[in-house]
Amino acid sequence: MAIRNILTLGEETLRKKSRPVTDFNEKLGALLDDMLETMHEANGVGLAAPQVGLLRRAVVIDIGEGPIELVNPVIVETSGRQAFEEGCLSVPGKRGLTHRPERTVVEAQDRHGNPIRVEGEGLLSVALCHEIDHLDGKLYVDIVEGELMEEE
Ligand code: ZN
Repeated sequence: MAIRNILTLGEETLRKKSRPVTDFNEKLGALLDDMLETMHEANGVGLAAPQVGLLRRAVVIDIGEGPIELVNPVIVETSGRQAFEEGCLSVPGKRGLTHRPERTVVEAQDRHGNPIRVEGEGLLSVALCHEIDHLDGKLYVDIVEGELMEEE
């Protein structure tokens, strides 16, 4: 496993649309392992492949309940609305107020190509929406309400 470099706001790759993963091979497994290690090292709760420079539809999330790997994730259901103070490893040192669904349901594949379904409420709902946005070149700063705040 290896720590990968995290791209930051201003890098063009972060604004591009990622392509679906079609090969469920060792390379994908290595990428997901590296993404998890990179995310944990940076004390993040989520990381998307474009943040490490790869335009592939893969994300990892860990809100403290164990790692979740989502390949080709699609949001199939949302409900409710919550205010949240979001941050992003690609926007270091900042936070900002957003509104996200209170509950989000995602269908995806695991690293072997098996179908999986994840339901998230609260922080997990935010993380699912935030990371999947990255796959379409969207960042939370696009939907932030008011100014970005310095992280305490
Ligand atoms: Zn992010």
